[in-house]
Amino acid sequence: MPFVDVHCHLDQFEDKEVREIIKESEERRVKVIINNGVDKETNRKTLELSRKFKIVKAALGLHPEFIERFSDEYIKDELEFIRKNKSKIIAVGEVGLDFYWIKDEALRKKQESMFREFIQISKEINKPLIVHSRGAERKAIEILKEEKAESVVMHSFGGKLKLLKEIDEMWMFSIPPIIVRSSHFQELVKRLPLNKLLTETDSPFLGPFRGEKNKPYNVALTVDEIAKLKGLNAKEVENNLFMNYLKMFRKTLTR
Ligand SMILES: [Zn+2]
Repeated sequence: MPFVDVHCHLDQFEDKEVREIIKESEERRVKVIINNGVDKETNRKTLELSRKFKIVKAALGLHPEFIERFSDEYIKDELEFIRKNKSKIIAVGEVGLDFYWIKDEALRKKQESMFREFIQISKEINKPLIVHSRGAERKAIEILKEEKAESVVMHSFGGKLKLLKEIDEMWMFSIPPIIVRSSHFQELVKRLPLNKLLTETDSPFLGPFRGEKNKPYNVALTVDEIAKLKGLNAKEVENNLFMNYLKMFRKTLTR
């Protein structure tokens, strides 16, 4: 079975580079790359990439790290844009909370109310949510539960392992290739059952090798690492993770 990258930012590469990355990813058996928009510009770029390349699926959202740039009007417009384009997208993301970069209390509150709106729209249009929760994991889980979020992917979860017992049965975790040098992600994978795991890269960020841009085909490194940690065969892990992907995104796989 093929590989999947459920969270990346191809829009951060030059157009020419994107073409090469897509080609190499296909050669290395990557079947799906979910590009996540973070603001108006990258949401439109995400739709453009998904039109151009069959392998690319679109997730649209507003990234909490940039909350200062988002007026109420801007957020409202973008929610409307997502509603209008719901047939073209596979998920809502990248959305969530970021208390690592954002320390200001008023801005954090604004992130929270924006996050609630995105959870609601994801339920309304019946798409999974791809959640960023850096430095705000506990709060993010609390809000997801309050808003009764259903299909949730916790992307690059950096929270304490004891928070895992708060996690809903149906949510999954996408693991980046930085796992090869991160004891946090290694522990996370050991603690989670295989049926809650997905692969992502957050390309060009969170690379497995220092100083090198991350690429979607690096998901294969995550699969190998999971296999090693769980004492399973890599092929078996690959198959299971692909099934997890189908399970999470099934209801929205229309194209
Ligand atoms: Zn991201």
